[in-house]
Amino acid sequence: MNRQAIPAQVTSFIDGRWQPATGLAVPVVSPVSERPISVLHEADAAQVDAAVAAARRTFEAATWSGAAVAERKQVLLRVRDGILARSEELAQLEVAHTGVPIAQARGRHVPRAALNFEFFAEFISQASSPLFDQNPDYLTFVRHEPAGVAALIAPWNAPLALATMKVAGAIAFGNSCVLKPSELTPLSFVPLMQILADAGVPAGVVNLVNGRGPVTGSALVGHPGVDVVAFTGGTATGRLIGEAAGRGLKKVVTELGGKSANIVFADADLERALDAALVAVFANNGQQCLAGSRLLLQRPIAAQFIERFVARVQSLRIGDPLDAATEIGPLISAAQRDRVLSFAAQARTGPEYEVLCGGRAAALSPGFYVEPTVVRAKSNSLPVCREEIFGPFVTILEFDDAEAAFAIANDSQFGLVSYVWSASLATVTAALRALRAGVVWINTPLTRELRAPFGGYKNSGVGRDGGSWSRALFTEEKTVTIPVRDFPILRMGISADA
Ligand code: NAD
Repeated sequence: MNRQAIPAQVTSFIDGRWQPATGLAVPVVSPVSERPISVLHEADAAQVDAAVAAARRTFEAATWSGAAVAERKQVLLRVRDGILARSEELAQLEVAHTGVPIAQARGRHVPRAALNFEFFAEFISQASSPLFDQNPDYLTFVRHEPAGVAALIAPWNAPLALATMKVAGAIAFGNSCVLKPSELTPLSFVPLMQILADAGVPAGVVNLVNGRGPVTGSALVGHPGVDVVAFTGGTATGRLIGEAAGRGLKKVVTELGGKSANIVFADADLERALDAALVAVFANNGQQCLAGSRLLLQRPIAAQFIERFVARVQSLRIGDPLDAATEIGPLISAAQRDRVLSFAAQARTGPEYEVLCGGRAAALSPGFYVEPTVVRAKSNSLPVCREEIFGPFVTILEFDDAEAAFAIANDSQFGLVSYVWSASLATVTAALRALRAGVVWINTPLTRELRAPFGGYKNSGVGRDGGSWSRALFTEEKTVTIPVRDFPILRMGISADA
């Protein structure tokens, strides 16, 4: 395997052109070597303004927003092909800035980025809008029109897969957009801009601004020229985004953090539940919003399940994420590693915890590696059960019956997903009703259906994306009424004796 050349510097891409490297230089650090591998030149408010202006200009020129659906569909399918044609390069760049194992970048992240464009290409060619013809005098129908300029803000944990869900949705429905990836992970967006241009996306339809959240991101969200904000990231940032979008009366969807319960009942298929429990928390180095990071075990099977689970966790292959056999790579940053380790340190202090394995920096240096960690907790009120840790860290709790399991699962500030493992129809039916989460996965882990809504209850966000929910975000709905016959119109201003 040839190692992918990493762009030496990353600037912003506005109106089809890479901008000069004038902004503040922010190093892009490798999670493996802990050394800078590239430099990001931050977009300031003036550059953000230029990006929004380019998006507005192209939107109003209607080359893209007014293009036939068939044309947009073909371009989106060419973007998919472009991603697939450069999939190895993209996978390696995703690994270089995130530390995600290459097998997962190749197997999940890059294929998902391609699928996002294919999905929305197909969606727009099949979509329809309601027509109301009950009234004998007139017809009323709904037009979905592009909302305008979309600000798309993405996190670092799955940079390409999550950002392209937003880009594909925004442009499929005819919008222009400005994308701001995480400042930690700008690398794969360099080839992506080229792929979009080569596929025929006109200059100015997708603009890219790079920089830190409080500078570049905040200028973008607060910009009066932005009509729609699609945000994925942490809950604290989500509140700021919601406030700024609210002040500007912009449409907004926020997809935020989670602390999802993975509930395993005694009657479950325990082999599948075991495999899934590992994937649900340790895929993506544990840095996933939908992690099943609270593993709830029914008491009769708990001891045996824990023994087998811990044995598997201890066998996870930690190492260089570019090695195809690696299952756990380094975390994104020193700060993230220290955060995860601080929860492990806390768990070593009290009798309400038991660290079953891990909990230390892994014996690999350099690199932000953390040993996969399993902690048994006596109570769901402990911080390891309440906070999103966002690393290879799972907390185990035990329960007696379904009612207790659902109460623990719901006792959280978050409500993104829940996992339920049981062979009983009555139990899973009760679960899917009781659980306060945007997604309930029954006897299956991590199965995102792009046609269905995805998003969270409570502090996991506001709104949904996927299929027609993405259309609701990225379009304005216009209700149009036309007569079908000359029905009587009240005649005003005519004198009574006329
Ligand atoms: P983050 O909130 O720190 O950053 C997300 C993005 O927002 C980045 O691009 C960042 O630069 C930007 N940002 C930060 N402050 C900003 C501000 N004041 N104004 C505008 N933009 C700002 O999140 P992160 O650390 O990059 O990502 C991890 C978080 O994302 C976790 O909480 C995870 O659960 C969440 N996440 C949620 C989903 C979901 O679909 N619900 C998916 C993936 C990740």
